[in-house]
Amino acid sequence: MMTVQASKSVAAVDKIGLDAPIFDPIAFRLSDEQAGIIARARELGQSVFAGRAAAYDREAKFPTENYRDLHRSGLLGIAIPKKHGGFGADYQTYALAAAEIGRYCGATALTWNMHVCSTLWSGPLADDLEMDAATRAEHERRRAVHYKRIIEEGAVYSQPFSEGGAAAAGGVAFGTEAKPVPGGWLVNGKKIFASLAGHADYYGVLCTEVAEGEKASRRNTLYLAIPAKTDGVSVVGDWDPLGMRGTVSRTLLFKDVFVPEDAALMPRGVYFQAAMRWPHMFLTLSPTYIGLAQAAYDFTVRYLRGEVPGTPPVKRRMYPTKQIAVAQMQIKLEQIKAIWFQAVTEARANPGKEQVLRAYAAQYSAMEGANELATLAIRTCGGQSMLKSLPLERIYRDSRCGSLMLPWTAELCLDRIGREALYETGESDD
Ligand SMILES: Cc1cc2nc3c(=O)[nH]c(=O)nc-3n(C[C@H](O)[C@H](O)[C@H](O)COP(=O)(O)OP(=O)(O)OC[C@H]3O[C@@H](n4cnc5c(N)ncnc54)[C@H](O)[C@@H]3O)c2cc1C
Repeated sequence: MMTVQASKSVAAVDKIGLDAPIFDPIAFRLSDEQAGIIARARELGQSVFAGRAAAYDREAKFPTENYRDLHRSGLLGIAIPKKHGGFGADYQTYALAAAEIGRYCGATALTWNMHVCSTLWSGPLADDLEMDAATRAEHERRRAVHYKRIIEEGAVYSQPFSEGGAAAAGGVAFGTEAKPVPGGWLVNGKKIFASLAGHADYYGVLCTEVAEGEKASRRNTLYLAIPAKTDGVSVVGDWDPLGMRGTVSRTLLFKDVFVPEDAALMPRGVYFQAAMRWPHMFLTLSPTYIGLAQAAYDFTVRYLRGEVPGTPPVKRRMYPTKQIAVAQMQIKLEQIKAIWFQAVTEARANPGKEQVLRAYAAQYSAMEGANELATLAIRTCGGQSMLKSLPLERIYRDSRCGSLMLPWTAELCLDRIGREALYETGESDD
């Protein structure tokens, strides 16, 4: 059985001092309100989540206790509009807060992303997309139901997307199908790597609406919040991966699951519109890895200064090789932070080509860069730093997972940047 370490009080953390924010509010021109929300995430991460992270990782257990704290602190509703009881955070504020959580517990930040996206995509993002007045009013009524559940009951949403085929990369329609029936749909299909499997209250499933005799089309993608306890929903398979072990990303099966119309997180056609017109929606997996990049750097500085608890207080900072390594890490970290901050700041509907290419480059930089920093950290700190009693080896394993996340894997980002830089829309060599 896992024993989750009792929460350290904020007072205890005060003694060791709160970490400085990854993005200083004055230097990065954040408002007081943004800085307050982000500080709340950082304090919870450092004072509570950091102490629990090793146990979740060791046991590959979902961070249930952290979710109770996220609810208590209001952060479950970070992107829910204020008039519905949330913090009303915009995309940039959410991304900066998520980076702070990722700094202390990668699995919590990554799964929190799946949850927050259910409100971010159906919220500020959907507000930027086209809908007729009746559809928008219906959407407003439906999303209020999700908001209420999250704020009042602490309901947790996940985002099963991947199926093991070409759909998650955006190539073809999702193989999970929703057949229209009176009052809703019958959903059948399978989702792999479904983070929060068995732990979310609602699975925010991406699937294709296919009427009898019709062919599946990406245009008909639906985004449905299916209650985890519905008949026909099951969680199968093991979960014993290299990193991000606390995400519990097992396989979900849907067999003739009846889903009522009100379960739609987005109206018909709006998910497809979002995927075409709001591409930064796929950049939301990266904040976790910005946090991990910062964590690898923080660890190295503290270790070389002889300040990491549980290690001999031997300073190594006087060696020129260590100083050069830290300098290289600092330069890399600042490069990643700069491009990523710019990309999350300019996230909006209908971005220009340069902004889209920058978003791919930011995703690539965060996902590959976090692991490069963790690798350098281990090399620089040495053998004792990779013991399982310290967080660095977990940061190393967790950070390796970033470049695998579809639809913007590191490979697919390279692929798209190269193609879109060399070809204008519609151009070919024929
Ligand atoms: C810790 C963790 C948590 C996750 N949580 C979730 C979740 O909550 N929800 C969810 O939906 N998914 C989740 N995923 C899944 C993730 O987004 C990917 O779908 C998964 O890692 C893909 O694995 P695969 O072997 O099926 O990839 P494949 O589709 O087999 O692809 C393998 C590699 O080939 C490349 N590739 C794929 N398609 C193309 C193409 N058309 N052209 C060129 N190259 C291509 C990509 O670089 C990819 O990395 C999670 C993954 C991890 C590691």
